[in-house]
Amino acid sequence: ETLSIADFASQIGKSVGEILKYFFAQGLMLNQNVVLSEEQMAQLAFEFGFDFRKEETLTKENFFEALDATEEDKPEDLEHRAPIVTIMGHVDHGKTTLLDSIKNTNVVDGEAGGITQAIGAYQVTNKDGKKITFIDTPGHEAFSEMRSRGANVTDIVILIVAADDGVMPQTEEAIDHAKLANVPIIVFINKCDKPGADPERVKTELMKYEIVAEEYGGDIPFVQGSAKQKLGLDQLEETILLIAEMHDYKANPNKLAKGVVLEAHLDKAKGPVASILVKEGTLDIRDMIIAGTTYGNIKHMEDEYNKKVLKAGPSKPVVIYGLNVVPSAGDKFIVMNDEKMARTIAQAQAEKKLAAERNSNQVFSLDSIKKHIDDGELKAINLIVKADTQGSVEALKGSLSKIDITGVKLNIIRASVGTITLSDVTLASTVTDGIVLIYGFNVRPDAAVRKKAEEEGIEIRLHNIIYKVIEELEDAAKGMLDPVF
Ligand code: GDP
Repeated sequence: ETLSIADFASQIGKSVGEILKYFFAQGLMLNQNVVLSEEQMAQLAFEFGFDFRKEETLTKENFFEALDATEEDKPEDLEHRAPIVTIMGHVDHGKTTLLDSIKNTNVVDGEAGGITQAIGAYQVTNKDGKKITFIDTPGHEAFSEMRSRGANVTDIVILIVAADDGVMPQTEEAIDHAKLANVPIIVFINKCDKPGADPERVKTELMKYEIVAEEYGGDIPFVQGSAKQKLGLDQLEETILLIAEMHDYKANPNKLAKGVVLEAHLDKAKGPVASILVKEGTLDIRDMIIAGTTYGNIKHMEDEYNKKVLKAGPSKPVVIYGLNVVPSAGDKFIVMNDEKMARTIAQAQAEKKLAAERNSNQVFSLDSIKKHIDDGELKAINLIVKADTQGSVEALKGSLSKIDITGVKLNIIRASVGTITLSDVTLASTVTDGIVLIYGFNVRPDAAVRKKAEEEGIEIRLHNIIYKVIEELEDAAKGMLDPVF
């Protein structure tokens, strides 16, 4: 496909003048009828769309690195965007009920029917016109799955704890995930309407996890209420907005959109349907996007009110039709208004994915630590420690904290009693910075867990003598690890 400057300008929504100026700055005097080469189009796409570092030219290989690069928008181009919130907590503590209650109490004027379809996330507007986006899949599985794929969509985590039940295993897991993601936490103490509800107990229990309420000298906001009776919801929203104000979440809406696929499926009539969340820029119904290994021209776009929309800006969730195949949840998307390039890149992505799957087994291994340290690329060793007794957990934590490897941070991202579970492997797979290892002390994972760890390329080490664990890590750091079979 060949395009003139005038055609191309209209496709990317820029003026001919801006494009001519770009070439002029490079010493080229062109006019609007000049037909662009493929390379020029790619340059322009980056120049105007992606804020790509200018010395680099777009290739199949670096395209998605560009996608991952944090863009440096000029401060004056940034505008406020709605905070994106995920609700996590133990099963039956009320995540779904809370999401539903928030959905039903926030019916915007003119949206008489309210939110009518589940599109992976929804946005509510409070009485002052302030918006909040809630991710509609509760729980930490979806959260960590996204993160393991490098997609950090959540700004704030609401940790829901039932007042009649207290801190439970999945509460702990949710805390680990939120901490690892380094996002602010708001605690919602739910089911306060129930006899036997004991919010104070929840507060004291959470102190053990460094989740300390303001009244106990901490800085974590707590809200008490009932998802079912719709109590405390206003206060919860206010707290979210307060945190959003403090963190000043912003994005540049005036550029081509980038974002993440939340959910996707194949519809018999409509073809691939994807729920996506725009993170920056504005998606236009005329755009073509690449999402993971798929691409396509957006044919139709609608919101959670089942309403057709023409544009979607930062923090806005929408459903789109028009991709050539079904993408995966967690895939990043980017606008690429050049079909040929889009196809090439989607193809390259598919190849890259295959290659990554083939290589994934070597990603995190203990005997590669020395090499990584020498290369200067290893900044952190993350550990998940599981042991048979609380005593062993404490002893391991104590000894591990004394290990000193120059230049490397040792993070214990989880240390708890019990065998190694799928959730430990999932947590490990969300680590993006450094190596992660799972240590089992007097515990053994079952076959399914081993298989998952193997698939994810995560190493599990089993021991029953504490000093062996320490010795092994120290040796690995020195590159003196005995081969273990
Ligand atoms: P999830 O597993 O965390 O999504 O929990 P659900 O939202 O499915 O809630 C589990 C059960 O607790 C359901 O029977 C809800 O009706 C009930 N529930 C949720 N919130 C409240 C509440 O505030 N008060 C009372 N009494 N029951 C609640």
